[in-house]
Amino acid sequence: MYKYKCAVCKKPINVDVSVVGLQCDKCGSRIFYKERPNITKKIRAR
Ligand SMILES: [Zn+2]
Repeated sequence: MYKYKCAVCKKPINVDVSVVGLQCDKCGSRIFYKERPNITKKIRAR
């Protein structure tokens, strides 16, 4: 399961991908951003 964010009100939403017709329960938007679990990766410099 990925974490999504509403594109309008930026509310984080846990999305089950099996759910069809997903809608933000706050603003009713149907546009979501997929949020990566780890945006900051550790990079080992040498
Ligand atoms: Zn929203």
